Amino acid sequence: MVDIYVRGGWIITMDNERRIIRSGGVAIEDGVIIDVGKQDQLDKDYKFYADILINAERDIVLPGLINTHVHLAQGLLRSCADYLSLIEWLKDRVWPLQGNYTKQEALASAKLVVLEMIKTGTTTFLETGLVGRYGPDEIIEMIYSTGMRAAIARHIMDLRGYATRENILHEGLVETREYSLNDTVRLIKKYHGWGNKIWIWFGPRTPGAVSTELYREIVAKARELNTGITMHLSEVRDDVEYTIKNFGKRPIEFAHWLGLTGRNVILVHVVWVEDFEIKILAETQTNVSHNPSSNMKLASGAARISDMLKYGVNVTLGTDGGPSNNSYDLMREMKHAALLQPLRTLKPDAIRAEDILEMATIRGAKALMIDHLVGSIERGKRADLIIIDYWQPHLHPLNNPISHLVYAASGYDVKHSIIDGKIVMFNRRILTVNEEEVITEAEKAAWSLYERASICVKPDLKWPIT
Ligand SMILES: [Zn+2]
Repeated sequence: MVDIYVRGGWIITMDNERRIIRSGGVAIEDGVIIDVGKQDQLDKDYKFYADILINAERDIVLPGLINTHVHLAQGLLRSCADYLSLIEWLKDRVWPLQGNYTKQEALASAKLVVLEMIKTGTTTFLETGLVGRYGPDEIIEMIYSTGMRAAIARHIMDLRGYATRENILHEGLVETREYSLNDTVRLIKKYHGWGNKIWIWFGPRTPGAVSTELYREIVAKARELNTGITMHLSEVRDDVEYTIKNFGKRPIEFAHWLGLTGRNVILVHVVWVEDFEIKILAETQTNVSHNPSSNMKLASGAARISDMLKYGVNVTLGTDGGPSNNSYDLMREMKHAALLQPLRTLKPDAIRAEDILEMATIRGAKALMIDHLVGSIERGKRADLIIIDYWQPHLHPLNNPISHLVYAASGYDVKHSIIDGKIVMFNRRILTVNEEEVITEAEKAAWSLYERASICVKPDLKWPIT
């Protein structure tokens, strides 16, 4: 007997050979993929011997998507910061709102974001930085209860940041060096590696918001405790000016000088870089999280992703947050990533759909240092897979499933989601979360937050609502 046998129209494995199996099957037992292959070979062993048989013959089966840059606490801020560039966006809207969160509001926001991600095909994500005041323990336990897999960075920020203005930052975002470091270590001891589904990372903020001594301590601690570090870097041109002016170094040089490069580091955005900086990233095997929607919306710039791939940098994909994207749908992000490089380079073949799907799956797993567990559909890996209904007009004629997934599909085409061998969504119904409750709670929490912060109380809309 096996627990689940999926019979799919197409299986996109993302294994080393990048095999695509037509009329294929995947057998799952105890959370592990025990067999992958053609149905005519697998049926005899599993078709009549599975507890659950999923008939997915009109579907595409692929590894669960991996989102390497998420702000769970920005879920309630969707549409609260449109039409602004990064510095104003942070100063006038995002930080005053985020710094005002109560624990209940932060939890409501995180639940809403996790729900949206499951519904759009993400099975693993990297949260960029939970602040102490959000109640990280409750949020981590909530994530675990939904069945999601996640690396969760603990926010670290001991300076006010070059972008900040007096009196707008609530103490909630700036924490003392001792408190944020000790709390990260506490969370690592309590949760790191929990069920092979939860990992705790360090989440220092951008240069100017963290002292160089603290950066160095983070690097040493992450090495000692064998975990990762994620940080926003070189997102806008002001970031380059800041490190040059204060340290005489461009942002990647600055990060490398502090030891903030390497296989356990995911740098986010990395828009403004010179060739020699890309070389540093490649040589040190530092990972990059590309967030094209956020970069376009905030007019930050177009990251040199096709160049980075040529140099051998491991580039992954992230959505960023509610006020910068304003969606957590990684399928949509794949399309934006695919469109931005031809526009940037004026070359239609600057990047291929195959590259993009790698960024959203196996490359993400590698960056999170869990590619031995997930990121592809292979015998022996944990069973994280999503099933997409292709019997829809926008996915026909079906001659190239990878092209369709990247350019034509959206997260709302995901029909079923299996994480760690458990069915988390079936026929678009989430089995681990009460959707109605999550949405109602988020709606209530958002309005109390807006009123307390006196921001976003009225929609930024030129037309009257009657
Ligand atoms: Zn971000």
